[in-house]
Amino acid sequence: MSETIFTKIIKREIPADILFEDDDILAFRDINPQAPTHVLIIPKAEIATVNDIQPDQAELVGRLILTAQLIARQEGIADDGYRLVVNCNQHGCQEVFHLHLHLIGGKQLRGMSK
Ligand code: 5GP
Repeated sequence: MSETIFTKIIKREIPADILFEDDDILAFRDINPQAPTHVLIIPKAEIATVNDIQPDQAELVGRLILTAQLIARQEGIADDGYRLVVNCNQHGCQEVFHLHLHLIGGKQLRGMSK
């Protein structure tokens, strides 16, 4: 897949407000937050969409969710609750073609739009 803006963030070629990093995962605040907490959790591996996840990446994908759990606690929103979203391709309104989990919370969210 071609390099996206998120690869530039991983390589520190552009700045981001990074909250978590390990060998495989990076989490940083969304530049256009939709709620008081809006964090993007990404694998460092260049996986374009949900459709491109391979079976041997199942553990990595699970760890993206565990990272969201950790950050939700750090942000103090775990008990009140939050939303995890992964957009895929055109109908899912995916804009950046590097797999990412949105962690959104810190206020009462509305029901999912259809
Ligand atoms: P998508 O629509 O692909 O699921 O979400 C992409 C997200 O990436 C959007 O919420 C958008 O605000 C965020 N985003 C796009 N470019 C940048 C950037 O350069 N830095 C950060 N931190 N977030 C970005």
